[in-house]
Amino acid sequence: MLIKRITVGEINVPLKVPFKTAMRSVTEVHDLVILIDTDSGHIGYGEAPATAVITGDLMGSMRASLDLIAPRLLGKSLIDFNTLLRTTHRSLVHHNSLKAALEIALYDLRAQAMGIPLYQLLGGGDPLLKTDITISVNDQDVMVRDALRAVADGFDCLKIKVGGHTWRDDVESVLAIERAVGPHVALRLDANQGWIPKHAMLVIQAIEKAGVALELVEQPVPADDVVGLKFVTDHTLTPILADEAVFSAKDALRILSTGSADVINIKLMKTGGISQAIEVANLARLHHKTCMVGCMLETAIGVTAAAHFAVAFDDVVSFIDLDGPQLCATSAVEGGMRINGPWISLPDTPGLGITAVHGLTNVKVFDV
Ligand code: MG
Repeated sequence: MLIKRITVGEINVPLKVPFKTAMRSVTEVHDLVILIDTDSGHIGYGEAPATAVITGDLMGSMRASLDLIAPRLLGKSLIDFNTLLRTTHRSLVHHNSLKAALEIALYDLRAQAMGIPLYQLLGGGDPLLKTDITISVNDQDVMVRDALRAVADGFDCLKIKVGGHTWRDDVESVLAIERAVGPHVALRLDANQGWIPKHAMLVIQAIEKAGVALELVEQPVPADDVVGLKFVTDHTLTPILADEAVFSAKDALRILSTGSADVINIKLMKTGGISQAIEVANLARLHHKTCMVGCMLETAIGVTAAAHFAVAFDDVVSFIDLDGPQLCATSAVEGGMRINGPWISLPDTPGLGITAVHGLTNVKVFDV
């Protein structure tokens, strides 16, 4: 199986409601899509969002990076899989989301070549997952309304974005949501780096004292403040999850070996794809910690890949945060993950199971 063509384009998918965190507000998904064609007729699909504020990736920088990498992959064989991964990663530093899109397409092809779904290539498992859903940071009444709507849609786990107001407002919003949805709905908080360590401690301790058991609190402090992250972890009972603080396996090792967080959020767009995500999961297992598998604002290509990964590593993946497609008002993708409320199931077709992507714009083709 030889790589004969790489096609890149962009998709725009509107969101049901604006996605608001402590860092940004977004109304549509605008992602890069990569198709890798082979001489056997197989097509591998990959996707990457330009999440500049988190990963540093811009649409233009991802496309420029692909201009560099794509010619080096053309004509190469899928048999030399590790060489393809090394070429992808060593052609330039950073640009992890673009590398993730390429890796996802390469893994898709590898599983297709073997005639098995990607999760089976990665080790097997039960291809059924249940995700939380994001409640954007807003005024309290809007957040309560969005939470009640999510519960009515069948979700029993909410990921509440906080860190956009004062820390006291954050406490009030969380307690108001808990009163509205009741104690049987699991609550996770994501501050997206929005607190200083002491305020994070105050928020979490106030919620603990109110008798509300949070499943976890995600990235309470700035990504590079590992000391602050450890301070929060050491001064609260609630599990603390490192998200923006962990991109690479090296980042994970630093957080895990210092006990700076209880859980690691693995996102393919941070790790640069599946190969490094495997490294992070294995490190977490070594340290007797667990992981969340999350996504950026991705459609069903990137999230399907993340779901395949999560299924295969379910011994160490305890939390699923793969609500990207559920947040979208429409879908441009055929095949791949199937959604039913909070449930995600994967097809038994080879690879990712994706058969088509519609509405690509700004298409560019790299040929042998
Ligand atoms: Mg997060």
